[in-house]
Amino acid sequence: MSRTIVITGSTSGIGLAIAAAFAQHGDNVVINGFGEASEIEATAARLRSLAGGRVLYHSADMTRPTEITNLIDTAAATFGAIDVLINNAGIQYVEKLEDFPVEKWDLIIATNLTSSFHTIRAAIPLMKSARKGRIINIASAHSLVASPFKSAYVAAKHGLLGLTKTAALELAESGITVNAICPGYVLTPLVEKQIPDTARARGISEEQVKTEVLLTAQPTREFVKADEIGALALYLAGEHAGQITGTHISIDGGWTAA
Ligand code: NAD
Repeated sequence: MSRTIVITGSTSGIGLAIAAAFAQHGDNVVINGFGEASEIEATAARLRSLAGGRVLYHSADMTRPTEITNLIDTAAATFGAIDVLINNAGIQYVEKLEDFPVEKWDLIIATNLTSSFHTIRAAIPLMKSARKGRIINIASAHSLVASPFKSAYVAAKHGLLGLTKTAALELAESGITVNAICPGYVLTPLVEKQIPDTARARGISEEQVKTEVLLTAQPTREFVKADEIGALALYLAGEHAGQITGTHISIDGGWTAA
């Protein structure tokens, strides 16, 4: 039987790869995120063609609580349930702490942390009444370790892991699991956009950022692939993962082993 999967921030990068993994599996997917209407419609059509599942796009801005509630309500009204909630929307900004723009701090905390409070809060009653559910938070290696110049991102991602553990404990007897996936670097627009800023903040070239900053963090010296994260999310949503809750799984090429 096909399930219903809500994936925030899924018009690009990791979220889109996760949506494709579930759509390929025949599930109904609710996608969300910014982008050109024509590109989003083409993305939805491509997802539909993978295995014939239904695809719904919702434009909620994940910094706006009422729009987030509407996303969850619309998904539930359209498909009758939310089986899996994947909190993935995220942004980055790279700057020294003393120069970090206050509005960027607020935007990153709202997008990368507070949005998950709002989606989870809205999805819990639906999942509780179904006596089942899976919540997967796309956290980061930066939920476990820090890097300079990413204060808001590191703070939000550490917070997301705390939210993951707390929700898992509260929901442990309700048939609902809550986990985090902590990826290392994946070459998506989010990472590509921060390369020039990191080069400026560190006074090095953009090529040096890739080889001497990003891949230096990962002992395998390889970027993680977005579809590898899709496969891990599919596993955490599956029947064999019922006793995995309140934890994180790193997929970071060995970064946080050091
Ligand atoms: P991306 O920029 O390719 O995609 C981000 C998505 O979030 C897009 O669909 C965008 O439209 C959406 N989004 C951003 N702000 C939004 C808002 N206010 N409302 C709704 N949607 C919004 O980035 P990505 O690399 O695929 O990142 C996805 C997640 O993975 C993020 O949470 C990020 O922190 C995390 N992550 C990424 C990496 C990496 O190396 N790329 C590593 C670890 C964790």
